[in-house]
Amino acid sequence: MMIIVFLIRTTIKEGYIMPKLNENYLNLKESYLFSEIAHRVNKYIADNPDKKVIRLGIGDVTLPIGSTVIEQLHEGVDALASAETFKGYGPDHGYAFLRDAIVDYYRQNNVSIAADEVFVSDGAKSDTGNITDLFDQDNIILIPDPVYPVYVDTNIMNGRNITYINADETNHFLPMPDHSIHADIIYICSPNNPTGAAYNKEQLKEWVDYALENEALILFDAAYECFITDTSLPRSIFAIEGSRKCAIEFCSLSKTAGFTGTRCGYTIVPKDLKFTSSTGVEMSLNAMWSRRQSTKFNGVSYIVQKGAAAVFSEKGMAQCRENIKYYQENAKIIADGLTQKGIHCFGGVNSPYIWFKCPNDMDSWDFFDELLTKAQVVGTPGAGFGKNGQKFFRLTSFGNRENTIEAMARITKLL
Ligand SMILES: *Cc1c(COP(=O)(O)O)cnc(C)c1O
Repeated sequence: MMIIVFLIRTTIKEGYIMPKLNENYLNLKESYLFSEIAHRVNKYIADNPDKKVIRLGIGDVTLPIGSTVIEQLHEGVDALASAETFKGYGPDHGYAFLRDAIVDYYRQNNVSIAADEVFVSDGAKSDTGNITDLFDQDNIILIPDPVYPVYVDTNIMNGRNITYINADETNHFLPMPDHSIHADIIYICSPNNPTGAAYNKEQLKEWVDYALENEALILFDAAYECFITDTSLPRSIFAIEGSRKCAIEFCSLSKTAGFTGTRCGYTIVPKDLKFTSSTGVEMSLNAMWSRRQSTKFNGVSYIVQKGAAAVFSEKGMAQCRENIKYYQENAKIIADGLTQKGIHCFGGVNSPYIWFKCPNDMDSWDFFDELLTKAQVVGTPGAGFGKNGQKFFRLTSFGNRENTIEAMARITKLL
């Protein structure tokens, strides 16, 4: 025993015992939403093996990718099989054929961006998380509550404080700027996950004006732009005047084209986004993001980029729209069922999500258990998205038609 103690003493210098870890991770809430859901569902299934459970909880698509995109994915694979067409590392921020296709897609919506403002990536989750690399610790960060948890957790990992803004029934889940407080960085997701609410042009203009007034930056998540059916609603922050000086946009093919497993997204960083450093040097966010990505990321595979470009072709987009329409019909079935029972729903029209208040003032986890055990339907408790979700519930339209109909029949019977 004495010898062991002696050995440890002589081999470890005092004060240098361990690597010092990023203790901000201790401040993260246990990521318990989807694991807790899985735990409760698995336990229920184990105890009730004869019951058919229908899942309308997780935000993942279920329909297969359209044939036009699939053909191009195959072409991408075949290109790798011969020396003449083989591809190794691709261009830093995506192949020109894809960046140009994205520029063209925006042009069709009357939004003008340049190809070197488009950064192709493996998805919007990585980009919304990684963008925090560009900002100092000391910023006032505004994040709506309830919210997609990635914005919150990535800022906590970097040790930043967060100022929450309430999204609730009083503002139809669309919080507006409070001109009496200053913010540096503002997260906006529209159409919103989890509430399904979408800002109109006037409302987004107010946010842009607020950002310009405060020399702040808007981080705009447009992952659900393709679900917008009301043509008066903006599908990009860049449809708003002045936004090129105050906004970055994140988008993804995950929900647009069923790429949740295939992985491709893009981020638009206008070259007009320039701020002054503490020493008076001009810094361009476009140049910084370019530097960040080329240092820490080596791009999306050629195969996936081939498939992604096909999403933006006329035929490819038409097939995506068919799938989206199918989900939107599911959304209508869900919303109609709830409305028929006197439950007022949010979302579901310009969004795949239906958000509603749990009946009888129930807590969202209690309602989750009730739906699971009495109707065998799995949804998502609003509490998992923030304190304002405590008494709300999210159902998704990403299931198949038959299950959606059956789930709603069971739910309406229960309510
Ligand atoms: C699904 C989703 C995304 C897409 O993330 P990917 O990493 O591209 O799959 C981005 N933002 C929100 C709010 C989402 O719900």
